[in-house]
Amino acid sequence: MNTNIENNINKNSSGNASNSADVLIIGGGTAGLTAAIYVQRAGKQAIIFEKTAVGGQIINAQKIDNFPGMPGTSGVDFAIKLYRQAMDLGTKVVYAQIDKIKSDGKNVTIFSEDKNEKWQGKSLIIATGASHRKMKVDGEEELIGHGISMCAACDGNFYKGKEVAVYGGGNTALQDAIYLSNIAKKVYVIHRRNEFRAEQILQKQIKKIENIETILDVTIQKVQKLNDRIGLTIVNKGNKGNKSSKIKEVDGLFLAIGMEPNTEKFSELLDLDENGYIVANEDTKTKISNVFVAGDCRTKNVRQLTTATADGTIAAINACKIK
Ligand SMILES: Cc1cc2nc3c(=O)[nH]c(=O)nc-3n(C[C@H](O)[C@H](O)[C@H](O)COP(=O)(O)OP(=O)(O)OC[C@H]3O[C@@H](n4cnc5c(N)ncnc54)[C@H](O)[C@@H]3O)c2cc1C
Repeated sequence: MNTNIENNINKNSSGNASNSADVLIIGGGTAGLTAAIYVQRAGKQAIIFEKTAVGGQIINAQKIDNFPGMPGTSGVDFAIKLYRQAMDLGTKVVYAQIDKIKSDGKNVTIFSEDKNEKWQGKSLIIATGASHRKMKVDGEEELIGHGISMCAACDGNFYKGKEVAVYGGGNTALQDAIYLSNIAKKVYVIHRRNEFRAEQILQKQIKKIENIETILDVTIQKVQKLNDRIGLTIVNKGNKGNKSSKIKEVDGLFLAIGMEPNTEKFSELLDLDENGYIVANEDTKTKISNVFVAGDCRTKNVRQLTTATADGTIAAINACKIK
């Protein structure tokens, strides 16, 4: 999936952007690309800075069924269309991770440590989205990409006829389990609470699927390689607080335990809420007059494509007003 979008997107990118523009945009996901469309249409120049591949999180979605007017579109197709629209209007893209921002009230300067470069703009839109949360347990880092995956749609096919586990209890976890049940021989859904958070419709669906088994009220406390398989140390709290643990062997583990905002680089200059999201209202304005924040990295209740595009629109219109 990722290779697919890279072939479609990165090879066509306009890489030779100059070091200044009207509006700098950090993050080439849905919010950043939408913002670029509005900036370009306002007759200004936008540069998007992207650390991996343009498209953002949505490239991992097998199917999008809730974006108005586009039912059944794949995440990759959605991202490619958005990217092309922004590029056709003259948006520039620089592939760099931005590590620091500074504002003197008139101009904003952003820095990339790995590129050893800086760029200046009249205004800045931060649209850095969110990343998959990790378990933070022993053995996890070594096994990511070698038995542990964050993306069922990308890696599910490696587990044809095998046994896998999905860790999590929300919509993504149950959607992943349903998707994997068509590929794997057996899917265990492991969740730390005794009931799922996911929508009722998904909970009903998984109950009807024979090769899905749920393991509730447990946590995974360690992962380790066991020959070709992985061992999950599963700890059950027990009724009277007595802990018991066992090792569950599977071929693959898919993590679906939520997202964390990509905002730590901006904590020096901007206010973050208790969960790390950049504080701003629907107007996308931060405490710095020429810095705006759009999409999943902003404080808000609903993080979806529709809200990311809304934020991108508002942030761009506000950013273009800065003289
Ligand atoms: C598997 C999956 C399925 C989903 N399905 C749906 C769905 O069906 N419908 C729906 O409405 N929503 C869905 N979502 C949620 C939706 O994808 C997000 O709400 C949306 O993508 C948020 O867009 P964004 O631009 O704010 O952030 P992102 O898409 O996260 O984009 C942020 C971008 O910023 C880049 N970045 C981060 N930090 C830096 C940095 N320091 N320097 C440079 N670049 C940086 C990242 O690499 C990334 O490309 C799904 C999400 C996932 C993971």
